[in-house]
Amino acid sequence: MGIALSDKARLRSLEGRTPTVATLCSHSSLQIFHGARAEGLPTMGISVGPPARFYEAFPLARPDQFLTVEKVSALPHEQARLRDAGAILIPHGSFVEYLGPKAFQELDVPVFGNRAVIGWESDREKERVWLESAGVPMPKRYVDASEVDGPVILKYYGAKGGKGFFLAKNREALADFTPTGPYVIQEYVLGTRYYIHFFYSPLSDRGYRVGHGSLELLGMDRRDEANIDELYKLGAQEELLKAGIRPTFVVTGNVPVVLRESLLPKVFDVGARIVERSIELFGGMVGPFCVEGIMTENLDFKVFEISTRIVAGTNLFINGSPYSDLLQPGLSTGRRIAMEIKRAQAEGRLSEVLS
Ligand code: AMP
Repeated sequence: MGIALSDKARLRSLEGRTPTVATLCSHSSLQIFHGARAEGLPTMGISVGPPARFYEAFPLARPDQFLTVEKVSALPHEQARLRDAGAILIPHGSFVEYLGPKAFQELDVPVFGNRAVIGWESDREKERVWLESAGVPMPKRYVDASEVDGPVILKYYGAKGGKGFFLAKNREALADFTPTGPYVIQEYVLGTRYYIHFFYSPLSDRGYRVGHGSLELLGMDRRDEANIDELYKLGAQEELLKAGIRPTFVVTGNVPVVLRESLLPKVFDVGARIVERSIELFGGMVGPFCVEGIMTENLDFKVFEISTRIVAGTNLFINGSPYSDLLQPGLSTGRRIAMEIKRAQAEGRLSEVLS
């Protein structure tokens, strides 16, 4: 038996019934509803205001029912309705971000995965402690600008979506930076970005064993990032700045990628270390997570961020990916979540995957 993430009281609303897969209508909700439906689970879309019309355009991904709230912050008032529906909330980036990590953690409704992970992921300092103590290589961090000895990226605390990041080619170029809040100075890693979609199942007893379960690789993408990805056309950052445009890393879409096969052991090792350390630190991370890193020309993989839930890049793989097809043809991350819920319920182990 694995680690219980929740006590029995929290899961009482699910006793003796088929759970309803519920999430906020945004981000990766189409995939989550589609996957749940494929596994025969009922679905509920939490909509802020009237449900978006585009769900009508995708009948296979339209939730069976909607729960409409005026604003996301009103969701805690709907907890009884969610429990009555036997809801299991599936966290995604927008859900946690819009509601706020603290309010999300406090919801008295079963959540897929370990909600304790939110406190570790939403704080860049704690995230670094977790990854570094797991032995995961990360970009160097400079305590003071005087130490800078190469290209750097300056990130404001809590900055989401890469808005307002500042790039400096060298220490001298830092003089052009006028901070408007607390920030960190990080080595700017030159290489190719990969966003690797993992799934950790504490229930599985086969495959790539990690902890008491197994680690699965479901896909990989690279993000298209607003004007920075077009930078090469202008030649250099200065050209953008001369034109009065500040480079941003705001995500606008995703493209599928695969990794050189000989590099797979490296990323599995990183994924395994992150999971093993999470078990020691806070009882373990369960379900989908994404390791976001840069492969350098020396084939070192440096991790600049992890997302501890389903990421929008998995939307590429509603019908499977070159990796998930080797586990089960046509398997999406959304469907994998539904499969884990069904298995946990059938084996009386919901407390190991829900919190
Ligand atoms: P983050 O908010 O940490 O996810 O970073 C947003 C984007 O900034 C990433 O998707 C990368 O394109 C870029 N980035 C972040 N950290 C680094 C780094 N240390 N070196 C190079 N690029 C980075």
